[in-house]
Amino acid sequence: MEDIEHRLAQIENKRHVIEEERIEVASPGDLESEEITEVDDATITTKKIPFCECGEKLEGFLLCHICKKKICNGCAVKFRNRQYCSSDLLKRLPITTQGFKVLLLIANKIFSENQIHELTGIPKNQVKEAVGFLKNYAYIETSMFNKKAVTDFGLECLTAWGQMFGGSDEMEQLDRGIRRYLLGH
Ligand SMILES: [Zn+2]
Ligand SMILES: [Zn+2]
Repeated sequence: MEDIEHRLAQIENKRHVIEEERIEVASPGDLESEEITEVDDATITTKKIPFCECGEKLEGFLLCHICKKKICNGCAVKFRNRQYCSSDLLKRLPITTQGFKVLLLIANKIFSENQIHELTGIPKNQVKEAVGFLKNYAYIETSMFNKKAVTDFGLECLTAWGQMFGGSDEMEQLDRGIRRYLLGH
């Protein structure tokens, strides 16, 4: 009798299912998935979780219009009603941080290269370079009297990249500087 109970207990033990959960990073393009596999007595649940390149877990996601990569909200940049990853948008709408700052100032009608230098802290020769860059890409144009103006394309560029650059401490500080400057003039 005891023997039978002992053997039953042994069988019970053997049938005790080992459950294991594994978390893996989904390959690019894969959705969140859960796969259950049975190996001997173990039930293994493998959860694949998609992550954005920035390390953020992808809950809802956006698709880059060009490379079709899944990107998180924070990494997607909207341009002409389409979502882009920053490296693809950079190809369509080239910009540098300095170029963006100078463009922002010109959009605020701060044209003097000296003033731009003072507000942004960008060295004067680099302000000149940035202005050249902005002209090259037709973000700004200069009139006959050498007056600078932001083009419609330049405004689109500001709006698009503003989603990425905006909100940083650096840009907020610049925004405050612009406002102070404009109030004083
Ligand atoms: Zn892309
Ligand atoms: Zn991201």
